Amino acid sequence: MMQERITRLAFTLLPPLAIALGVAATVRGDLLPPLPRGLMEAGPWLAALLGAGLALAYGRTRVLVFIGLVLAVYLGAVFQLRPMAYQGAGDPAPALGYALLTFLVPMIAVANSFWTERYHIAMDLGLRLLAFGACAGIGVVLIRQYPDAAEAFLLTIHWPAVHWPGLGMPQVSSWSLLLGLVITGIALVRGPRPFWAAQWVGLLGMGWMLPQLFHAYALPLSATAILIILSLAVIQESFQMAFRDDLTGLPGRRALNERLQRLGRRYAIAMTDVDHFKKFNDTYGHDLGDQVLRVVASHLRKVGGGGRAYRYGGEEFTIVFPGKRAQQCVPFLDELREAIQDYDIVIRDEKNRPEDRREGRARRGQGRGQTVSVTISMGVAERDAEHPDPEAVIKAADQALYRAKEGGRNRVCTHEG
Ligand code: GH3
Ligand code: MG
Ligand code: MG
Repeated sequence: MMQERITRLAFTLLPPLAIALGVAATVRGDLLPPLPRGLMEAGPWLAALLGAGLALAYGRTRVLVFIGLVLAVYLGAVFQLRPMAYQGAGDPAPALGYALLTFLVPMIAVANSFWTERYHIAMDLGLRLLAFGACAGIGVVLIRQYPDAAEAFLLTIHWPAVHWPGLGMPQVSSWSLLLGLVITGIALVRGPRPFWAAQWVGLLGMGWMLPQLFHAYALPLSATAILIILSLAVIQESFQMAFRDDLTGLPGRRALNERLQRLGRRYAIAMTDVDHFKKFNDTYGHDLGDQVLRVVASHLRKVGGGGRAYRYGGEEFTIVFPGKRAQQCVPFLDELREAIQDYDIVIRDEKNRPEDRREGRARRGQGRGQTVSVTISMGVAERDAEHPDPEAVIKAADQALYRAKEGGRNRVCTHEG
């Protein structure tokens, strides 16, 4: 499970990190030839349009809000930070406005990403804009009313020992950014999703681009890259939605159909079915049934012999073995069957759940509670003259599965002939 999560994390982080590092190298090495300013400055707007279009099409209000935040930081840097830096510190008002922006953005980004997408998209977006607009509004009012206190909080270097002037933002803003990165990073590690990866790299990128104020194209190029990373995350997530089964995390039927079209001349296909699952559901409830399917899937995912498991539908799974004969798959399938038969699933009864932790420990001390286990039956067939295409092989595997059920279940049968 652990290794699986690390692999998923790496694959989720790879695309946005590759883009970000590419941009960082381009800026640092001054790799781009001088481009017309207008072209550079069109970048963020075009990327924002692309991202907003995708986010709207897929109903991703979180992404829409994050796009707004990236644009706000970019415009804030260009129209507030840059003139301020040219004029030197004089009037504290723009400095305060900029400090408020950089302080609020990471916090709003985090709140936005934990806010579940609900209701109609317009309603959802409206509520978010209202809430985050109110935060910004209150900030502005406070700055106007209490400029001295605001300056003391936002612009003072509170802890000189841990201040890095090169960050290009006031100290409280940098702490807000760090907190945003930590929270987003934890969410990313716990459940590697493209959106979390995009937000993490996006926050990091915003922190990175701000000090490069006077570079010819660091700001527009970075903002463009962050917005493209977000667009990519929308595409990746909708792709996963279509091809991955939500309950088990295995690739689903659509991914299987795709795979079946690209098989070579030799392959074997195994069909798997949970034994007496209807009775299991009737006895222990549908929720525990779902948990069983997750457990079965996590075993099937680890199948050896170059096989790959898919959720065919319901409590049925398909394993595709490219380049294998049916007989060669049997040891790998038996290994899975035994692992599942030996796996104890602890029943956590909601109603009888211990009321507090102390009691929980005491009860657990008396024994681990009731456990259940399930068994699976499997049928496997290979491509041959009689079964020349995947549909026929699946049908043959189904017949073998039927014989496994007839023969007493919890066994693997091959299709003879
Ligand atoms: P057999 O050993 O012959 O396979 O007996 P069975 O009871 O498993 O028979 P069958 O394969 O026809 O049963 C399918 C049952 O699987 C029906 C349904 O209650 C259950 N099931 C299908 N999909 C899901 C699911 O997503 N979650 C849960 N909890 N149960 C499911
Ligand atoms: Mg079935
Ligand atoms: Mg069954």
